[in-house]
Amino acid sequence: MQPALVEERVRLGLERLRLGRMAEVLSPVCEEASRESVSYLDFLDQLLQAEQTARFERNVEVRTRLARLPYHKTMADFDYSFQPSVDKKQIAELLTLRFVEQRENVLLLGPPGVGKSHIAVALAVETIAKGYSAYFVTMQYLIDYLSEGSEPAVARMRVLLRPKLLVIDEVGYLPLDRQAANWFFELVSRRYEKGSIVLTSNKSYGDWATLFPEVAIASAILDRLLHHSTTINIRGDSYRLKDKRRAGLVQRLEPAPDS
Ligand code: ADP
Ligand code: MG
Repeated sequence: MQPALVEERVRLGLERLRLGRMAEVLSPVCEEASRESVSYLDFLDQLLQAEQTARFERNVEVRTRLARLPYHKTMADFDYSFQPSVDKKQIAELLTLRFVEQRENVLLLGPPGVGKSHIAVALAVETIAKGYSAYFVTMQYLIDYLSEGSEPAVARMRVLLRPKLLVIDEVGYLPLDRQAANWFFELVSRRYEKGSIVLTSNKSYGDWATLFPEVAIASAILDRLLHHSTTINIRGDSYRLKDKRRAGLVQRLEPAPDS
């Protein structure tokens, strides 16, 4: 049979078998193979690699959509010189994702605008790029989500237990009532040693007690969160206000010197 007809038949076969990327690159890969006298095995290898890469990329896209990240940022976009309290080596260690593999937590603490959410998103992006699942919620969304709907909260919690990495952003802006505190405790307990949490908070651990109706539940939650964890305390200026501050529009939020 004529080579062009065979190629067409192979392409149709690949499409039918849902090997779309292989079908797309068949023609150029065939041409190159005959020009460079590539071995049969290398030829097949090239086609398979193309398919696998395309599938992985599609998979990353799907997992990125499912993660519901508020924006897409990586640590390459992070200006370490602006925020010297963020240790580049410590972030590099986190970006290896050993903490995800070992089901450990990361807690990012600090005032508004210092890059807590940025770092949390960047860790989620890296998690997804390495083939794992991630899911992003704010504390407010988490509580609203668990209290809505006809299903019991325990059933709705499944979505929050499944991902390898769960980001809980903005813990500390809203005080939790007893019900919400119980759900949060339940979530943290059920993920404990099973899946990582990256949490951001504007409150130091000392102030966590004020967020919960009882000190006992605050310490039970912290106990589980902190057992296998890394805490990053970010001190410094808000990046959001940096340009305004430079222009002298905003005062520094530091206490005035006594003298
Ligand atoms: P936080 O969650 O601590 O309140 P964000 O992470 O939301 O602060 O940061 C506020 C904005 O400033 C975001 O757009 C973030 O990408 C940016 N940002 C913060 N810190 C830095 C930094 N050091 N380098 C680059 N961008 C930063
Ligand atoms: Mg934030």
